[in-house]
Amino acid sequence: MGQPLRIESVELPDPGPFDVVVRQYASGVCHSQLHEIHSPRASDVVLGHESTGEVVAVGAEVSHVGPGDRVFVTWLPRSTQPPDRRPAMAQVVQSDGSAASSLGVFTWADHTIADEMFIVPLPDDAPTDVTAIIGCAVMTGAGAVMNTAGVTSGSSVAVFGVGGVGLSALAAAQALGAGPIIAVDLSEDKLDFALRHGATIGVNASKCDPVARIHELTPRDGLDLMGAPCSGVDFAFDCIGAAVAQVVPSLRNKRWAADERAVAVLVGIPTAAPDVDIGDLLMHEKHLTGSIGGTCHPERDFPVFMDWYRQGILDLDSLVTQRFALDEINEAVDALENGRIAGRSILVFD
Ligand SMILES: [Zn+2]
Repeated sequence: MGQPLRIESVELPDPGPFDVVVRQYASGVCHSQLHEIHSPRASDVVLGHESTGEVVAVGAEVSHVGPGDRVFVTWLPRSTQPPDRRPAMAQVVQSDGSAASSLGVFTWADHTIADEMFIVPLPDDAPTDVTAIIGCAVMTGAGAVMNTAGVTSGSSVAVFGVGGVGLSALAAAQALGAGPIIAVDLSEDKLDFALRHGATIGVNASKCDPVARIHELTPRDGLDLMGAPCSGVDFAFDCIGAAVAQVVPSLRNKRWAADERAVAVLVGIPTAAPDVDIGDLLMHEKHLTGSIGGTCHPERDFPVFMDWYRQGILDLDSLVTQRFALDEINEAVDALENGRIAGRSILVFD
């Protein structure tokens, strides 16, 4: 990586009318932040976009939380209603007088200030550390399965890439009664981990063609338009952003005249040029769609994820595999970048 991240002490501004100041318990360390770290920028940025904490102060227009409340910080507007205003960019002034900003929120900090639309109540019975990953990883992965794709009971699912987001997708597929649930990754360790977190079959893409393997694993009744036997999954998720060329052909070929959905979802930030056979999309009525934050409305969906956690389906306690202090942020980023995080790591603040 380039320059290491720098920890600065700053004065948080007084909250504006829609602002909430949060003393933070914990923050997730998200893969998308690596993209942001490596992207060209005109000025400094503050990073992190999923956390938990306790409200310290609120602006005059904030009514859904107050000082002392426990909350999630996330990066999608909390309400099911589209926001009627665009929040100001989060910004802090550094010791040399320059500004560091974030497009939405920032959570790699022991305190943060954020627009109220990104602040969601955290239930009293919830742990305050492992729940920090709900605000991005869980929302993105589980939401893609539950909301964007609308996975249904009995449908077959393939998840490409089983880091924090992919593991959350697997948990959601299990919660919704899907099966088989196929995890695809290059790492045997990550596949073993995935098999303990909702996957029913692991496919190591470094040892076989995962598309061919998925079709072997999912024979179906009937013949398609061209008279070929049918196989493939109903839903496939690219959680790494580099598997579009695999998720679409992993979907089932369509039984002639049958009315059945098949959806490939781009969840990770794309890192490869698109390579999709549009004839395949046409002939088999395959859908290809993107998913931003799992199409979640946090106030509607976080309680669902918390229920899955209480039921033991969404095992946040083991999905969080490493913990770092804020002054270890560069170690945390390096570990993520070099594939040493089996699930998700978090920063824990004093
Ligand atoms: Zn994220």
